[in-house]
Amino acid sequence: MLADSHCHLNYKGLIEDQAGMLARARDRGVTAMLNISTRESEWDAVIATAEREPDVWATVGIHPHEADAHPHIDTAKLVERARHPRVVGIGESGLDYYYDHSDRERQQASFRAHIAACRETGLPLIVHTRDAEGDTAAILAEEMGKGAYPGVIHCFTASGAFADKALALGFYISISGIVTFKSAKDLQDTAARLPLDRLLVETDAPFLAPVPHRGKTGEPSFVADTAKFLAELRGETVEQLTTATAENFHRLFAKTRA
Ligand SMILES: [Zn+2]
Ligand SMILES: [Zn+2]
Repeated sequence: MLADSHCHLNYKGLIEDQAGMLARARDRGVTAMLNISTRESEWDAVIATAEREPDVWATVGIHPHEADAHPHIDTAKLVERARHPRVVGIGESGLDYYYDHSDRERQQASFRAHIAACRETGLPLIVHTRDAEGDTAAILAEEMGKGAYPGVIHCFTASGAFADKALALGFYISISGIVTFKSAKDLQDTAARLPLDRLLVETDAPFLAPVPHRGKTGEPSFVADTAKFLAELRGETVEQLTTATAENFHRLFAKTRA
């Protein structure tokens, strides 16, 4: 078992040969892929892939980059689309103060609307956070006070202190191919000590191809390389790491077991 907890199968670079890309992933043992939405215009296509492929599931959400362009997407809209049997999570949503492609207050309002949708549906939140640790942690904690909701910090690159806060709130942490980069020493130190029962792996394909594929278009088959690196880093066997992260994936995204 091997689960890619975060990929964008309908993005340019992957959509052109979705069948080949899925075959290569299955060849390398990938048994589950979560196809993540970033804007309303792609929801139909993202869900359609999940309807067609038994090992692909979908999310609905608005990326923080897109918050300005989606003032009309509220909690009710998210909840409505999340009723679809192949939609198993809400996101990706969060805060990105590195690019600041959307107004920060709009990013925060959108983030809170997504969290409310998680509370209403029971589905997990997929959190994107970049250069926004303080506000992300504050909003996650404050919203948790209004009622618990499950979730994952995707493509984790934040500090160890942020990881501890997220774990304390019950969140899972998903590690991408960035962990294989030579420059990622701090991330490697954090990834080495995360509890195995809260760990996920992802590609964020078509982005962030791991070593030894750097520079290529990322694809879900590469999650096997990230899992292998992570297992060595943590002193676990590849099988231990892949089994545990896949079990975690299906426990967190419980609707995949329906
Ligand atoms: Zn992201
Ligand atoms: Zn993403």
